[in-house]
Amino acid sequence: MEFRLSAEQELFKRTVREFCEKNIAPIAREIDEKEQGIPDAIIEGLAELGVLGITIPAAYGGTAPEGEEITYANLAVQEIARAELSMSLPVYVLLQLGWATLVVKHGTEELKKELLPKVASGKWFLGIATTEPAGGSDIANIKTSAEQKNGKLVINGEKVFISGVRETREQRDGGHLTLFRTDPKAGHRGMTFAYVPGRAKGITSTLFDDLGRGGLSTGGLRYKDVEIPMHYVLGEVNRGFYLNMEGFDVARTLVSAACAGAAEKALEIGREHVKQRVLFGKPLAKFEGISFEIAQDWSRVFQLKLLLQYAAWLIDTFYREPGSCTHRDISQAVSMCKLEAPMLAVEVIKHAMMYMGAQGYTKDVPLGMALRGVMSYVVGAEGGANIQKLIIAREYIGDVAVPYRD
Ligand SMILES: Cc1cc2nc3c(=O)[nH]c(=O)nc-3n(C[C@H](O)[C@H](O)[C@H](O)COP(=O)(O)OP(=O)(O)OC[C@H]3O[C@@H](n4cnc5c(N)ncnc54)[C@H](O)[C@@H]3O)c2cc1C
Repeated sequence: MEFRLSAEQELFKRTVREFCEKNIAPIAREIDEKEQGIPDAIIEGLAELGVLGITIPAAYGGTAPEGEEITYANLAVQEIARAELSMSLPVYVLLQLGWATLVVKHGTEELKKELLPKVASGKWFLGIATTEPAGGSDIANIKTSAEQKNGKLVINGEKVFISGVRETREQRDGGHLTLFRTDPKAGHRGMTFAYVPGRAKGITSTLFDDLGRGGLSTGGLRYKDVEIPMHYVLGEVNRGFYLNMEGFDVARTLVSAACAGAAEKALEIGREHVKQRVLFGKPLAKFEGISFEIAQDWSRVFQLKLLLQYAAWLIDTFYREPGSCTHRDISQAVSMCKLEAPMLAVEVIKHAMMYMGAQGYTKDVPLGMALRGVMSYVVGAEGGANIQKLIIAREYIGDVAVPYRD
């Protein structure tokens, strides 16, 4: 058993931290508040560093450390989140890294060649589109559908709250792995997951006005007879639900990594403040009402980081040695991370704001924008807390705990 990072992993982490502290932290507020989204120079810098290709093999333009992709992705996302607390850039990067993994594992050769080098170089954005107006949690009930015609899939329907709409349709290029129904009578066994380019003919879009994450757009996508070639399908037709769930395991791990990075940084901001701030004749850190809370928050953040390292290792091990564990083992560990991480981040950020008093309520410190950013994961992005509890209960109690199975 080995809990330490390897020398290579430590070096990678340090290199990403240095890049982020120098280039990203100073413009985090700008990223959150200015309309232009994430500057090209930042995306290019992360691509040059090899971060955007860390889950993509060298054969497709990436920098994947074979068999340790998710471990490295976890480290990178935590570091980016520490520097960019609005969560715009961490989310941008984690979506790319997470969903590219699924293309690597299940995409056709043609799709991999077309898409992955563009993602690794930062030219294209890759996201996911499952949520629909009738609800995001109950994925098995989505309505968007596709029919096979003349060797193509023709898609009709609507997706909402999709990250990266402006990025794929205006600012850059790329698209979303999209879930739709291909056999209306077969429930979750009649769904297909495929890459749909943001600029495909027949797509119209809207943009939403989110509370936070201002550097990354969220919007709606409408599909009217949108044609995609069959080689954009991941895996097999009608197996999309399972692939989508497999992708969620990676994405939720990295979402939790973003929340862990934000929590760790917020805690450090709070810690430094209570060391300096003198009240009633001594530093705030001397009051146990404060120091004990910080001690407790740090132990919870540390536990989350360990759990994350475990979840990332489990996924890497599964891909390296199929059969070494099951998808359900992975889902449980990942859901534990996703259940804890967003609320822990909110708690820690709130505590740090309180240590700072009125200053914590200003834009002089990045805590307010961090709170708005991580709240996206509390309300439900990449699956709400109760959905994680459902998954954990299914594993720990057994199938009897699944409400939709009698
Ligand atoms: C900023 C942001 C970005 C997003 N980006 C994307 C994206 O890129 N792609 C994408 O596809 N989606 C995206 N989403 C949507 C996200 O996946 C959904 O918000 C999420 O799946 C929940 O769906 P919903 O919002 O429709 O809430 P609902 O499904 O209506 O759920 C509402 C509440 O009910 C709870 N709930 C649901 N079922 C149960 C149950 N059985 N028992 C108890 N409680 C339950 C949920 O946990 C949630 O708290 C994004 C959301 C946000 C906020």
